[in-house]
Amino acid sequence: MSSMTFEQLELDPILVRALTDMGYTKPTTIQSQVIPEAMSGRDIMASAPTGTGKTAAFLLPICQHLLDFPRRQAGPARILILTPTRELAIQIGEDAKKIAKHTALRVEVITGGVHESQHLPALTKTTDIVVATPGRLLQYIDAETFDCRDIEMLVLDEADRMLDMGFIKDVDRIAAEARWRRQTMLFSATLEGRGLMSFSADLLKAPVELSAEPPRSERKKINQWVHLADNPEHKFALLTNLLRQPDVTRSIIFVKTRDRLMELASRLQQEGLHNAWLRGEMDQEKRIEALSRFRIGRVNILVATDVASRGIDLPQVSHVINYDLPRTADVYVHRIGRTGRAGEKGTAISLVEAHDMPLLVRIEKYIEEPLKRRFIEGLRPLHKEAKVASRKRKDGDSKTKKKLEPVKKEKVRSRDTKAKGKPKWAIAKAEAGAKAYKAKKPSKKPASDDSNE
Ligand code: AMP
Repeated sequence: MSSMTFEQLELDPILVRALTDMGYTKPTTIQSQVIPEAMSGRDIMASAPTGTGKTAAFLLPICQHLLDFPRRQAGPARILILTPTRELAIQIGEDAKKIAKHTALRVEVITGGVHESQHLPALTKTTDIVVATPGRLLQYIDAETFDCRDIEMLVLDEADRMLDMGFIKDVDRIAAEARWRRQTMLFSATLEGRGLMSFSADLLKAPVELSAEPPRSERKKINQWVHLADNPEHKFALLTNLLRQPDVTRSIIFVKTRDRLMELASRLQQEGLHNAWLRGEMDQEKRIEALSRFRIGRVNILVATDVASRGIDLPQVSHVINYDLPRTADVYVHRIGRTGRAGEKGTAISLVEAHDMPLLVRIEKYIEEPLKRRFIEGLRPLHKEAKVASRKRKDGDSKTKKKLEPVKKEKVRSRDTKAKGKPKWAIAKAEAGAKAYKAKKPSKKPASDDSNE
């Protein structure tokens, strides 16, 4: 949270009143960064993952603009917000309606997966804000039923994800249709990557770059700990025990594959732990149903894979449980961000078997703190914690030596790390393989497990 107030951001009192209704007392960091710049009319490029309050960061200056310059006659949308997924579009639409509650502003949502008749108000009636996914909107643009000529502001939300999902051409086309706009804002979980850079260079004019790297005080609100598990059965016992504890009121359980998700969801069901589940490539209606069952509290457990859960805002999640550790540390940070949102307290628990230890070590390094080990009486692990660091320690000496050698040699270290915990034959094979690869393609770096970190 920033030390500013919403009044200091010079927002109209009827917007501030809506924020009070929503329980927002102070702007979040990204809100106090974005709102003044956006209100000054500049293009914006902000790195702001979900959970930072980014939605209100663009909705507030949008609503303020619409209040400052009220429309003089009926007409199509003046603001267009593009998002990668239907759920996100629906959610932003709901937030926009809440923020505009005391105004006369009209908000509509256009997404695939619903009958065209539902979009009639957006296409035929005076609308101020349209939130849309690119595919369906383009269909209407092509059919000349949606008119972009009155668009004054364009917002691209979760731009990185729109790129990942292959929407780049669609977004470019829509942006070209909305070429009379005066302002563009781009929000993305990260601003890295060449794809995003060239994409934004085309769409934004001299943007101010902002980042909502949550300050430590905001990050600290998530308690994080680890339970060590001897084997899959022990892990399951730990999970059911945790889920039955009174403070675990609403939890998301992350698993790594769709198959594991289905298996876990049904085992929990058998234990009387009712849950909803979310996985990639899921029927749209089922997704919405699963999400709303969880959102309205019909079930308090959501089992999900990473693919399925990005960009979805689920309020009041007390616990994030990593039933499987994520493959990379940044995904860990993204997952645990689902709890402890915008000032609420949250807890992230990872269930870790011996073979996960190298991953755990990487995560601890990435977040720069060791994760506390916790035990549940009656379910203490029988095995001692697997030590990953020992091999590293031994390497420690050679590392000191290596430091004295030319920099090029240091590269060897990544292979050392990769070999950690592997049997000797595997190390030898990997090294031979790497040599052969290098001989073939001298200029390229061999692909490695670490490449996406
Ligand atoms: P977002 O990053 O936009 O998905 O927002 C994350 C969560 O924080 C949502 O549940 C919002 O309702 C909530 N939120 C956003 N801004 C504030 C604020 N200023 N104060 C409290 N909660 C907020």
